[in-house]
Amino acid sequence: MNIYRSALKLICQANGAKRLVLAGAVFSGALSAGCGTHDEPAASSFEEFRLNTPYSEELKRYFVEDDIAMDEVGLRSYYDRHFPTEARAPQSTSEPNLGSASSALLQYSVPSGGDVKWTSGQAMNLTYCVNPGFGGDTNNVINAMAGANLAWANAAMVNFVHLAAEDSNCQTSNNNVVFIVRPFDFGGSPAALSFFPNAPKAMRELLVDRVAITSGLLQTVLTHELGHILGFRHENNRVGPNPRAGSTCGWEDSSFRALTDQDPMSIMNCSGASNLFMTFADQSGAACEYGAAPGFTPAPCGAHGLLYHSNVQGIGWTPIERDNDITGTIGQSLRLEAFRVLISGLTAPAPSGICYTAHVQNVGWQPEVCNFQTAGTIGQGLRAEAVKFRLLNPPANCSVVYQAHVQSQGWQSPVMDNAVAGTTGQSLRLEALKIGLTPGCIFF
Ligand SMILES: [Zn+2]
Repeated sequence: MNIYRSALKLICQANGAKRLVLAGAVFSGALSAGCGTHDEPAASSFEEFRLNTPYSEELKRYFVEDDIAMDEVGLRSYYDRHFPTEARAPQSTSEPNLGSASSALLQYSVPSGGDVKWTSGQAMNLTYCVNPGFGGDTNNVINAMAGANLAWANAAMVNFVHLAAEDSNCQTSNNNVVFIVRPFDFGGSPAALSFFPNAPKAMRELLVDRVAITSGLLQTVLTHELGHILGFRHENNRVGPNPRAGSTCGWEDSSFRALTDQDPMSIMNCSGASNLFMTFADQSGAACEYGAAPGFTPAPCGAHGLLYHSNVQGIGWTPIERDNDITGTIGQSLRLEAFRVLISGLTAPAPSGICYTAHVQNVGWQPEVCNFQTAGTIGQGLRAEAVKFRLLNPPANCSVVYQAHVQSQGWQSPVMDNAVAGTTGQSLRLEALKIGLTPGCIFF
């Protein structure tokens, strides 16, 4: 996780020598992620690759993809996956748990071995301690870790557990915890560093730079890092155009299995913490990999297209519907109070997606929201009366078409692209919606 990616980019462009010296850590060689590994010629040998990979003498480890740490054995494995045509020396050490991993969500995955992930038992008890070296920031870190855990645990059958009794001995040698959290001075970049599930015990550290704390984005940074620890890779690591305008992040390698379609807003994008969110696609991808948490209804695994659901009087959030299916109720005299809509699988340039607004009883037209944010109200007993939908940067010949089912009127005629569906000023409740994209919408 790199908060200040744009600054790093400038260093990359201005410094052909590819040497970056940071307070507390010296990285020598190419910035393999920051400068774009795939833009450079393939290393002719592992030794050359190793020498060109950022390395911290203090930590005795190599950094790839910005915020993943590896020892030499791990780096060798990484190199073999990156450069599969190279002659390979036999692995001196097997990597425990190295099946295939996942990453929004892409799960870290190796072609021959399946996903690199925790077992179900491990995933529900990922214990950690918090090193007292954080000093006066310790409680901040503890609270942000708890919040970051909830972001994942509310969606999937995973649980990061703080063992406070181990904080006084919070080192990688402590076998009472799966991993440790400790401060490390990266000089602001990366903001934090973590590991994948197949890292050996001695490498299982979540290192946090002070900039992550002072940025006000600590929980976002830690949520991203916990995603790596679960085996999720950077969302930008996909073939094709990077969905995030202005991002310097790109292709890393092919060791992943896509759990969801491309998600420009994913918490697992590689930089720009202020623009990262735990999205419904992230939650659904995590649930597809580890099982859904009680009370969470994920999108169908591998689903793409227009996904939506509604919050209905007396029912709450309904299951996810897609592509012109009905959300809400018919013939039950129940008001539709809120709804959320997402186009899953977007590859269009950011910002893209779908935006919408609701006309609510006693409120009128609400401000527009987008991409699975909630429109309408929840728990206030207020009916939605009308809706408008529009696409952001759609492909040519692509429109959103929608239809409202209104109290005492039934289904209205379909309308499209920001036209009003439903009624205003008649005190009639919206009861159901159908939403779809025209056939010209080739997002995928
Ligand atoms: Zn990362």
